[in-house]
Amino acid sequence: MIRELVRSFEPYRVIEGDYKVWLDKNESPFDLPLFIKEEAFDELRELNFNRYPSITSKPLREAIADFYDISPKNVAVGNGSDQLIGYLIDLFEGDYVITTPPTFGMYSFYAKLRQVPVLEIPLGRDFTIEGEAIAEKAEKSRVVFIASPNNPTGNLQPEEEIIKVLETGKPVVLDEAYAEFAGKSLWELIEKYPNLIVLRTFSKAFGLAGIRVGYMLADEGIVEALYRILPPFPLSIATMVIAKKALEYSDVMEKRVRYIVEERERMRKRLGELAYPSSANFLLIRADIHGFLLERGIVVRKLSGRLSGHVRVTVGRRWENNAFLNAMEEWLNDMGRF
Ligand code: PMP
Repeated sequence: MIRELVRSFEPYRVIEGDYKVWLDKNESPFDLPLFIKEEAFDELRELNFNRYPSITSKPLREAIADFYDISPKNVAVGNGSDQLIGYLIDLFEGDYVITTPPTFGMYSFYAKLRQVPVLEIPLGRDFTIEGEAIAEKAEKSRVVFIASPNNPTGNLQPEEEIIKVLETGKPVVLDEAYAEFAGKSLWELIEKYPNLIVLRTFSKAFGLAGIRVGYMLADEGIVEALYRILPPFPLSIATMVIAKKALEYSDVMEKRVRYIVEERERMRKRLGELAYPSSANFLLIRADIHGFLLERGIVVRKLSGRLSGHVRVTVGRRWENNAFLNAMEEWLNDMGRF
């Protein structure tokens, strides 16, 4: 069972090679500006590499808490939000994990890896969650995973549907990896719902995918319990210093988010009915063009299952987006659609 599962594991589906435009992993096309990197390097120079970092990553948790004006007791950090997903499945008790496909594959991957059954409650019309259907099955669940904006469909989930699930009192992970591009987050609901865990990452809007750092905002009790099962010293001092610097310059992130959102809307207009609306840094596209694009040096994500015949395209820099749009036009011409 595990061997079969590992064969379907994400990294084996990721393409590697000498292509010129990479729009397949929902990364930011912008690196951290050099002056910010240099400030981080200056700080690192002063730190002792021979000593372990804070056992519970305190410096970064404090910086994130300041950013949100909450207590560090409500913040946990991990080696990418991916790492937190796995440990959150370990943390709770129940017969199964609930996911809402088509959605981020790692929720069910980590559940199956732990031999925890997965109950799928598919997204309904317009890829929105069915709050009532989830709530009905929540009683026996360990945890419910909801992504908003959802990957790979790009849509935000309606607040009232999420609340229907929260009202069950069962643990709900609201994965907001792309929230900055939506300009909307429900993180403040953690005060009202102690069963809500909001998952965020530095990998997308902050452009730190290579650093590997994600975090969650939740009730103190959940954070404390999580630290009892996380490996000690989960984040290196380098990770924490760099993430803290990026937070300090969040205005840089905000400017870049505006660029991506403008580009996203420009692309959507050009693509017309082929592209679904998106609140994230990628577009879901109804066209079987993965191979055609690859031949032209452009890598996008090929989707399967209910979304076979679709691809997911990350919004990149203008020149990358234009390379993609021009290839799309060529494809449409070939198809006699233009
Ligand atoms: N959640 C969602 C919805 C994602 O799309 C991703 C990355 N593709 C992650 C979590 C994981 O991000 P990271 O581990 O880089 O923080």
